[in-house]
Amino acid sequence: MRRKRSNENVQRDILYNLFGVTIEQYEQVLKSQNGKCAMCGIVQIKDHELIVDYNYKENRIRGLLCEKCFDIIYQIGNDLELLEKAALYLKGQLCVKSKSSSEVADT
Ligand SMILES: [Zn+2]
Repeated sequence: MRRKRSNENVQRDILYNLFGVTIEQYEQVLKSQNGKCAMCGIVQIKDHELIVDYNYKENRIRGLLCEKCFDIIYQIGNDLELLEKAALYLKGQLCVKSKSSSEVADT
């Protein structure tokens, strides 16, 4: 019991120190997402497993994400164009062909 309380305090400190977010705010957002990742919809299994995606520009929690989704958003940032290209690429609809040597010579 004492150990659990200690873990809760650690989580509380991490949330607050990193984002200025309280456990209560986290729980509120989690409830609004029905305990699921805001992006893929996977259900949170452990307490506070979903990661805070904080929008520093708007100074608010954008959503709670699973690790995989958080990594995607972290890598891609706010680059929606790149994200759309990634989706097209995965669908096989985007193919950037390199110019052949003859085409290069013509230009
Ligand atoms: Zn996810």
